[in-house]
Amino acid sequence: MAESKSNKKRCSFCGRTENEVSFLITGMNGYICDSCATQAYEITQEAIGSKPTVKGAKLSMTELPKPVEIKQFLDQYIIGQDDAKRFLSVSVYNHYKRLLQKESGDDVEIEKSNIIMVGSTGTGKTLLARTIAKLLHVPFTIVDATVLTEAGYVGEDIESILTRLLQVADYNVNEAEQGIVFIDEIDKIARKGDNPSITRDVSGEGVQQGLLKLLEGSVVNVPPQGGRKHPDQKMIPVNTKNILFICGGAFDGIEKKIAQRLNTHVVGYSASQKTARIDKNNMMQYIAPQDLKSFGLIPEIIGRLPVLTYLNPLDRTALRAILTEPKNSIIKQYVKLFEMDGIKLEFQNEVFEYIVDKAVEYKLGARGLRSIVETIMMDVMFEIPSEKKTSYEVTLEYAQKQFEKANVARLQTA
Ligand code: ADP
Repeated sequence: MAESKSNKKRCSFCGRTENEVSFLITGMNGYICDSCATQAYEITQEAIGSKPTVKGAKLSMTELPKPVEIKQFLDQYIIGQDDAKRFLSVSVYNHYKRLLQKESGDDVEIEKSNIIMVGSTGTGKTLLARTIAKLLHVPFTIVDATVLTEAGYVGEDIESILTRLLQVADYNVNEAEQGIVFIDEIDKIARKGDNPSITRDVSGEGVQQGLLKLLEGSVVNVPPQGGRKHPDQKMIPVNTKNILFICGGAFDGIEKKIAQRLNTHVVGYSASQKTARIDKNNMMQYIAPQDLKSFGLIPEIIGRLPVLTYLNPLDRTALRAILTEPKNSIIKQYVKLFEMDGIKLEFQNEVFEYIVDKAVEYKLGARGLRSIVETIMMDVMFEIPSEKKTSYEVTLEYAQKQFEKANVARLQTA
């Protein structure tokens, strides 16, 4: 079929002869030339690119990790926070199911389930979002809500959130449109006070209104280079319908609002029963959407963040576990660094307890663990690569000496 009467081999797609192309690939019943093969590859890439992907492949229900598998993956990197992990696993699973149902063509439309995580700083909110994105191999970006302002004010336009997503997706709009955006410090754009202000609220409600557009799903014109919108800059339209937004915030003081709500609720005939069940040490677990409203988020935003979950404060046991247990725990990272110099690094068990003690004593939290280890290890990391050692043990005595000579004030601001 592909060979002409003159018996010359021809590409079955464009009809050019063997002499007119660089080379022909022979198939069962025909040929394809190099340029048609390249074009075919591009067409397939485009088709695959427009569908949700996991590990770079076209996503199907069978490949989509199940909530239990997502949680197991999170467990490898994040200590505790079981409730948040379960909520996230289910919402992410549903989110990607939603992307797939688009193709099934029936009338039931699953709504987007953006997520909001409430918990003190350094309890693992960003780590959770980042780890989910790692599992799914989708473009992921973190933005800080504090730098956002309404258009026309000093700061970044809300659309710039999507600029970063486009950048990490190498400007592949299809990919970016299925990515995950983590908006940190969402509590910082809360309305100050419960009453809507009559004066313009640059950093609060106006920004929330702007965010709404993004969260609910619409086509947004994104400045490709970020920054301020510039009349000459060619905008890239991005549809946010399938972008999963995960918001996080410390919501300092929200426990009081929760307590107030619970108190008003428990006044009644079963009051004593209910109060008995409330764990006053961890009020965060009772968080409800109305608490976010009392804190100053507008109801429309709360409505667009239907999955609300919380993170527990990290206690001693959690801090101790964070030091050594996660797949890429701080200690494992140091062991690896030394391994690259051919040195087997070991720690006395008491050193770990000491590090946790100091993190608790100076209220440094999980972030502080790294700076304490860094302080302890700095001198030895400087010297040992030039020595001919094959092993090194960090003793409690050495750790104490190094920590004590360090400037603790510097650690506290870390
Ligand atoms: P947040 O976003 O809640 O302020 P992060 O997720 O940025 O906190 O956490 C800061 C660092 O502390 C992380 O990079 C991680 O090393 C460590 N960390 C915090 N919480 C956990 C946790 N639950 N499990 C493991 N590491 C944690």
